[in-house]
Amino acid sequence: MKRIITIVGARPQFIKAAMLSRAIADRNTRGGTLIKEEMIHTGQHYDENMSRIFFSEMGMLPPKWQLQRSGTSHGAITGQMLIDIERILLENQPDFVVVYGDTDSTLAGALAASKLHIPIVHIEAGLRSFNKTMPEEQNRILTDHLSDILCCPTQTAVRNLAAENIRHGVHHVGDIMYDAALFFGQVAERKSTILRTLNLGKKAFYLCTIHRAENTDDTQRISSLYDAVEQIASPEHPVVFPLHPRTRSRLEKLGLMGRGDSDRYIHFIEPLGFLDMIVLEKNATCILTDSGGVQKEAYFHRTPCVTLRAETEWVETVTAGWNQLADVSPERIAECLRRQPARHEIGEYGDGHAAEKILRLL
Ligand code: UDP
Repeated sequence: MKRIITIVGARPQFIKAAMLSRAIADRNTRGGTLIKEEMIHTGQHYDENMSRIFFSEMGMLPPKWQLQRSGTSHGAITGQMLIDIERILLENQPDFVVVYGDTDSTLAGALAASKLHIPIVHIEAGLRSFNKTMPEEQNRILTDHLSDILCCPTQTAVRNLAAENIRHGVHHVGDIMYDAALFFGQVAERKSTILRTLNLGKKAFYLCTIHRAENTDDTQRISSLYDAVEQIASPEHPVVFPLHPRTRSRLEKLGLMGRGDSDRYIHFIEPLGFLDMIVLEKNATCILTDSGGVQKEAYFHRTPCVTLRAETEWVETVTAGWNQLADVSPERIAECLRRQPARHEIGEYGDGHAAEKILRLL
C-alpha cells in the first residue's frame, strides 16, 4: 500500500483534489497496489461558500486534519501551517505528499515535506507569470524547486521548468482542471438552477470574478476595474459578480458598490459552488476575470474571456484567440469585449485523464 497525504487550503485546490481522490477510489476498486489518501485542510479558505460547499458538491470525504487559520499576513499564515503540517507528517510518515498550485498552503506543505525528506508531488507544476511581485509566483517557483514529481498541465510549463534547470521528475500529464470541467460539467447541467434563480438568459450576461491581491489591494486598480464593470452593465447584458470575500471587503471599504445608476444591472452575489459557477461560465456571453482557473474554464467551455491582468500563466488560451489580456483600463476592456475569438484547440490541456496519469507516476 502507498500512503499519500494531500494538502489543500483554497477553493481551486478542493476542485483539483476532488478529481485525484475520485481517480484513487476508482483505481482501488480495480486491484493492484492500494493507495490510501488522507487530507490536511490548512484552513486558508474556511467558510461555507469558499470551502464546505466544494466538499459536499463534489462528494469528497471531510479532511482528516482541519487546521485553524491564524493571523492575516503571509508570514503568520504560512508559518503556522508549516508547524502544524510538519507535526502531522512526522507522526504519519506518508510515502508522498501531494500539493496543488500556488498558494501559501502549497508552499507550507512543500517546505514541511522537503525538510523531512518525504517525496513531494506538485500538481500544476511549471506555471510562470514572470511577475515575481505576485505571491503566487513566489510560491510556484519555490515549490517547483523542492518537488520530486512535477506534474505539468502544458508543454509550456515543461519548458518553463527546463529554463530553471528542473528536468528530473518532470511529466506533462495534462490539466486536472480539464478533468474537472468535463466531469462536473455534466453534473452541473443536471443539478444547477442558477440561470433560473438569477433570471438570466443564455448568452445574455457577463460573468465577472476578481480576487487577486494585485487588483484588490491597489485602490487605483480596483477602482478602474469597478468603472469598467459599471460601464458594461446594462439591462440587456447584466453582469453577474460573485464576490470573493477580499473583493467584497475592499469594494465596501472604498464605497464603490451601488454608487451608480447602472449598478442595478450588476448582480453582486456570494461566491458560488462549482456547479453553479460552471453553468454561468458556459452560458455567459463573455467572462471577465483575474482568476487562473476561470480563464481556463472559459476556454474549456468555449466562452470568450477577457483577463483583468497584464500577463497570464495560461498563454495557450491567449494564443488560441479565446482569451485577451486587458489589464484594468475600462477602454481596453470594452475593446476586448467587441472582438470575437478565432479558433479552439484543447490539445495542450490533455484528454481529461490527467488524474489517472498522475496516479501512474506514483
Ligand atoms: N469558482 C467557484 N465559485 C466562484 C468563483 C470561482 O466555484 O464563485 C471556481 C472556478 O470555477 C474555478 C476555481 O474556483 O474552478 C478558481 O478559483 P480562484 O479563482 O479562487 O483561484 P485561481 O484559479 O485564480 O487560483
